[in-house]
Amino acid sequence: MIWDELETGLAQLAAAGLLRRRRTLDAPCGPEAVIEGRRVVAFCSNDYLGLANHPALVAAAREAAQRWGVGSGASHAVSGHLRPHAELEERLAAFVGRERALYFTTGYMANLAVAPTLVGRDDAIFADKLNHASLIDAALLARAEHVRYPHCDLDALARRLEQSRARRKLILTDAVFSMDGDLAPLPELFALAERFDAWLVVDDAHGFGVLGPGGRGSLAHFDLPPSPRLILMGTLGKAAGVSGAFVAGDQRVIEWLMQRARSYIFTTASSPILAAALLASLELIAAGDERRAHLQRLILRLREGLRDLPWRLLPSPTAIQPLLIGGNEAAVQLAGRLFERGLWVPAIRPPTVPAGTARLRISLSAAHDESQIEDLIAALHDCADHRD
Ligand SMILES: *Cc1c(COP(=O)(O)O)cnc(C)c1O
Repeated sequence: MIWDELETGLAQLAAAGLLRRRRTLDAPCGPEAVIEGRRVVAFCSNDYLGLANHPALVAAAREAAQRWGVGSGASHAVSGHLRPHAELEERLAAFVGRERALYFTTGYMANLAVAPTLVGRDDAIFADKLNHASLIDAALLARAEHVRYPHCDLDALARRLEQSRARRKLILTDAVFSMDGDLAPLPELFALAERFDAWLVVDDAHGFGVLGPGGRGSLAHFDLPPSPRLILMGTLGKAAGVSGAFVAGDQRVIEWLMQRARSYIFTTASSPILAAALLASLELIAAGDERRAHLQRLILRLREGLRDLPWRLLPSPTAIQPLLIGGNEAAVQLAGRLFERGLWVPAIRPPTVPAGTARLRISLSAAHDESQIEDLIAALHDCADHRD
């Protein structure tokens, strides 16, 4: 019975063009990927600054392996909190200008920690409809009322906050939307949080390291002052090039998370090697103005080059440049044709994006060079000219 259901389910995914396929890479993360012996230019990773395989991070990791070993051995609260973890938290808090930071194994875990630890049954979460899946799961886990407002619609959000009788309110948003690349109106969201006495939790997975002075992220980009009601989540597997995440904010909030967040307490601390690599990464991020300027030039050139395609390039100012295709099959086919030309751009389909909005998610990195961008522009024009 259950086997029939699984088989039917898989067949349905295949028929709808929704089966996910993994490709195994035979080279480190970088602008060129090696797949089944073929070298292709990859526009897939979130390694926005090109740090994932940077020699300084590799050296820090190697030295940390010698000094600290590989495993942490336990959760942070038991005996897994090693000196590199402690140092990383201090440096992260100072870097983003908040009282304290807590280091998590992944961004998914960090998001599962925040909302469920701060709000519960009599409370309400107000969430942008295009939020990352981990924020949606966090809201479900919190068991609070889950109010989803239309994407970046401040009036709709204000109305819902006004109507709410909830004891505690928490606004939850991506800073840079992961499949659209646009920015949330953080100053306006913060003003609403103040007006309605709510928390504002900002997921800066795609802004940390890339946006703002020194790469300090989306809050710095908008020059938002620290406030106890403002909670920042940043991930460390994207621009920072390693893995993990942090939550930063008011020291009482962070202490409460450390005491109560189940996804923090009931999991083994990540390897000290990663914390050491992240310390090296933070230095490169802070000194990364040139990398960020190069990335910005690539973004502008790509946008200019893709202006007159039959597919709409979504209005994104960030390294995430989505080309809207529509149908699942059409998106997969176009991605396939690019791949034949040695260009790897992932097709993103539902449920990651709303039905009918399948897209190519072009993600750029400071590790790309101009000629790779020109190749992608030329190939997309060629595909557009030879559509059937
Ligand atoms: C990637 C991502 C996460 C999850 O972070 P991981 O460290 O990969 O688990 C959370 N939120 C957003 C918006 C993301 O893009």
